[in-house]
Amino acid sequence: MNYISTRGDASRQNYEGVLWAGLADDGGLYVPESWPSFSMDEIRAMRGLSYPELACRVMEPFLGDFISADDLSRLVTLSYQNFADPAVTPLRELSSGLYTEELFHGPTLAFKDMALVPVGKQFDYSLRRSGGHKVVLAATSGDTGSSAIEACRLSPNLTTFILYPLGRTSAVQRLQMTTVKGGNVYAIAIKGDFDDCQAIVKGAFRDLSFKRHYNLTAVNSINWARIAAQIPYYFYGALQRGVADGSGKKVSFVVPTGNFGDVFAGYAAKQMGLPIEKLVIATNTNNILHRFMQTGTMMMEAVVPTHSPSMDIAVSSNFERLLFGVVGRDSKTLRTHMENLAQQGQFTVGDDVMGKLRETFVSGEADDWRTEKAISFVYQKYRRLIDPHTAVGVAVARDMLKNPQSPLSGSEVICLSTAHPAKFPEVVEKCTGQHPPLPDHLADLFDRPERIYMLPNDLGAVQKFIREHTPDLG
Ligand SMILES: *Cc1c(COP(=O)(O)O)cnc(C)c1O
Repeated sequence: MNYISTRGDASRQNYEGVLWAGLADDGGLYVPESWPSFSMDEIRAMRGLSYPELACRVMEPFLGDFISADDLSRLVTLSYQNFADPAVTPLRELSSGLYTEELFHGPTLAFKDMALVPVGKQFDYSLRRSGGHKVVLAATSGDTGSSAIEACRLSPNLTTFILYPLGRTSAVQRLQMTTVKGGNVYAIAIKGDFDDCQAIVKGAFRDLSFKRHYNLTAVNSINWARIAAQIPYYFYGALQRGVADGSGKKVSFVVPTGNFGDVFAGYAAKQMGLPIEKLVIATNTNNILHRFMQTGTMMMEAVVPTHSPSMDIAVSSNFERLLFGVVGRDSKTLRTHMENLAQQGQFTVGDDVMGKLRETFVSGEADDWRTEKAISFVYQKYRRLIDPHTAVGVAVARDMLKNPQSPLSGSEVICLSTAHPAKFPEVVEKCTGQHPPLPDHLADLFDRPERIYMLPNDLGAVQKFIREHTPDLG
């Protein structure tokens, strides 16, 4: 399988190329040259597979030239063996026809682990084969940082530096980064906000001699390898609900959305032949995607903080992948839209494009008040605690299901549950009176010793730190 850039000006890459490249050299995002697809018979044959077996089956067409089937199976099995639930991504019924699929049973309690853990293993596998060493550098506002640290800490061939804004992450999020043992991971508090952290990371990547000398690598959500590892849980959820049983059952997914990586993986699953009825883009008050779905204009606005911080975004980078598909893979049109967004803060697409999008996508928004209501409701009615990100999805789903003419009527609805309630205990406790306990493997988190590194908001200081803490590469 080869990958091409959405902007049409970067060289084709194989899987290993896109694994390390992140963003393409022309500023675009890599997408498969064509979608691999499964017949309905092949999908039917996936029923009853364990999550790791299913993940191998679904990911194999993307990774086939990078790794043998045996090695893939070994890495995928290792990736999910420490997940707290034996099903890996269990479904739970809320009411008849409405389910959650829990994606938060990984080491850091958010769905980022579903992809970053296997991608960390692939990094290590690639470096063992080629004998190199790389430096992972990323900025985080919370969930990505701990997940990346967890994914990379066991590889002797990687040194990982994560920048987070001092005092702006939740206590659980910070502790998950600062209490990790191991000499090759460094969580650094920057005296600034998330945008400052991200600007430093971008600056380091732009310093080409620095980037080359240290083999800098990004792990942000535009990396294709992360998307590939998120497709299997759509197959798992839909198969659990019987889409391949021949009963004509229909399934839709509701996806709490920020950067559009998660819901794009659902679109990929559909392109690969999985019968998905609708994909619901659920946003919080930072509703750029919901407004776009209503108007056809993508217009940037300032970000406001909400109860669901991992969805607080100004633009959704992965949307470019979808747009590339619905403009007929025309890089010139795509580039014009992206340039307009960068320069004027907006772009508008025609009715033909919106028509194609609406075949698959619908959208909804839930603000903090409705998020709180959903957390309370789910606890009152079903005695279950859900986190605020999941609650955005549940609020949007329940709203749509009230309307008999809604695009969701006639299908079973699976709300992706993207974080464990214990990751956001304050809001959950406020709405339910219950303090969500941390799972066993993190029960002593608040008692673990922290390693705190703190640096000023300054690229030079961060580069100096990286120099002093990376093994001599000769
Ligand atoms: C990252 C994240 C999201 C948003 O996912 P995208 O792929 O960025 O759309 C939603 N919920 C949680 C808990 C997250 O960590």
